[in-house]
Amino acid sequence: MSTCSYESPWLTDEVRMFRATVRQFIQKEFLPHQDRWREQRRPDAAAWTAAGDAGLLLADVPDAYGGGGGTFAHEAVVVDELARAGIAFGSGIQSVVAHYILAYGSEHQKREWLPRMARGELVGAIAMSEPGAGSDLSGIQTTARRDNGYYVVNGSKTFVTNGGSASLVCVAAKTDSTVGGLKGISLVLVETPGLAGYRVGRPLDKVGMHAQDTCELFFDDVRIPAANLLGPAEGKGFSQMMDSLPYERLAVAVRAVAMAEHAVAITADYVKQRAAFGKTLLDFQNTRFKLAECMTVARVGRVFLDHCIERFLQGNLDDITTAMAKYWLTEAQCAIVDECVQLHGGYGYMTEYPIARMWTDSRVQRIYAGTNEIMKELIACAL
Ligand SMILES: Cc1cc2nc3c(=O)[nH]c(=O)nc-3n(C[C@H](O)[C@H](O)[C@H](O)COP(=O)(O)OP(=O)(O)OC[C@H]3O[C@@H](n4cnc5c(N)ncnc54)[C@H](O)[C@@H]3O)c2cc1C
Repeated sequence: MSTCSYESPWLTDEVRMFRATVRQFIQKEFLPHQDRWREQRRPDAAAWTAAGDAGLLLADVPDAYGGGGGTFAHEAVVVDELARAGIAFGSGIQSVVAHYILAYGSEHQKREWLPRMARGELVGAIAMSEPGAGSDLSGIQTTARRDNGYYVVNGSKTFVTNGGSASLVCVAAKTDSTVGGLKGISLVLVETPGLAGYRVGRPLDKVGMHAQDTCELFFDDVRIPAANLLGPAEGKGFSQMMDSLPYERLAVAVRAVAMAEHAVAITADYVKQRAAFGKTLLDFQNTRFKLAECMTVARVGRVFLDHCIERFLQGNLDDITTAMAKYWLTEAQCAIVDECVQLHGGYGYMTEYPIARMWTDSRVQRIYAGTNEIMKELIACAL
C-alpha cells in the first residue's frame, strides 16, 4: 500500500467483506451482459432477481422487511462498485423508493412491498418529473382524484429511471387541484402489472447511461386503491420529497467520486503504455501534472464525501451540506473525466473505451436528483 493511499473511515471489516461479494457478483453476473443491456436499453429482467438473491438490493433496509439489514455504508458500496464497473443499473432508485416506503409507509405497505423489492420481484421507479415540470415541481399536472376506495390517476411523467422495468412506481400527483403551487401534491404507489390505463413509452434516446431504461409513463384513468397513498394524509408529497431527496443526492455523490477515482486509475494505466515522440505519455510533464491535479481533486472529494457519509450514518447530515456534495462532487467528476478523455486522445472518444462511456454517463449527474443550479439555490439559503 503506498503511503498516500487512503481508506474511508466508515469501512468496517463487515462492509469490506460485503464489498468483495458485490464486486464478485458484478464481475460475474453483470459485466458479461453489458453490451446487450446497452443495445436493448435496459437490464435483463433476470438481473433484478439475481441482484436480489445476491443482497445488492435494499442493502440498508431492515431485515424485518426483507432488506440487507445494513446501513448506508452498504448501499454506498453497491453504488460505488457499480460505478467503478461502468454499470448503469437502477438499484439506487430501487433503494430510494424503498426509503420512501420505509419513512412514510404504513406497516402494511412496508410488509407488502419491501420484501418483494429486496428480492427484485418488484422494480421501483420514482415519477416526479413531467414534460412541463422538472426543477419546479409546483407545475406538475398529474392528478390523483379520490373516487370511493380508489384514486383515479391521470397525466404523464417523463425521464423516469427504471420506467420500462418498473412494477412499483412512486408517483407525485395532485390530490387537491383547488390549491396551487406545492400544496396538494401527494405521493401514491402504483403497482403496474396488468393495470388498465397505464402505458410505458419507448426508452428515451439518451446520450449516455444506455443500459438503464429511462421512459415516459402515461396514466389514463388509472385506478389504484386509496390505501396506496404514502403517509397518513394527502398533501404531504412535497415535504416527503424534500426530506427524502438528500438520500438520493448522497448516492449521486458516491457515484461521482467512484467514477472520478476510476477515471484517474484507468487513465494512469493508459498513459503508462501509450507512446508518442519516443516516450510514454506519462513522461510528458503535462500528463503528470494533469493527472496529479485530477487525483488531488478526487481525493479532496473523497474526504468530503466521507465526511458526509459519516454524518449521514450518525443521522445528522443536513440538506445544505448534501446539496454541496451533490453539486461540487458531480462538477469535479465531469471535469476529471473530461480531462481523462483528453489524455486518451482519439481513443477517448471511442465508445469501446470505458473512459468514453464514463464521459457520456457522467454528464447527467449534474442534472438529475435536482440540478446543480437548484443545489446552489439551496446552499445560498444558508448565507
Ligand atoms: C437520465 C435522467 C434520469 C432521470 N431520472 C428521473 C427519475 O427517475 N424520476 C424523475 O422524476 N425525474 C428524473 N429525471 C428528471 C430530472 O430530475 C430533471 O431533468 C431535472 O430535475 C431538471 O428538470 P428539467 O429537465 O425539467 O429542467 P428545467 O427545470 O427546465 O431546468 C432547465 C435549466 O434551468 C435551470 N433552472 C431551473 N430552475 C432554476 C432556478 N430556480 N434557478 C436557476 N436555474 C434554474 C436548471 O438548473 C437547468 O439548467 C431524470 C433525468 C434524466 C436526464
